[in-house]
Amino acid sequence: MSPAEHDAPDTSHCPLCGQANQCAIVAGLPPESCWCMNEPVSREALARVPEEQRGKACICPACARPAPASD
Ligand SMILES: [Zn+2]
Repeated sequence: MSPAEHDAPDTSHCPLCGQANQCAIVAGLPPESCWCMNEPVSREALARVPEEQRGKACICPACARPAPASD
């Protein structure tokens, strides 16, 4: 049990699927080096992020990808 688990929201994982979001900021790298600066991020995916995580935790590249038109 780590004490940080309760306080700080987990910003290193995708709020949608729980995978590592590979966010450069979380890794201590410049924001402009983040994948999200080079890849389109689906607005639908962002809209699915829970209110309390919005603007805090990034989603992962897989979830950011616009959903394919198939079922
Ligand atoms: Zn994800």
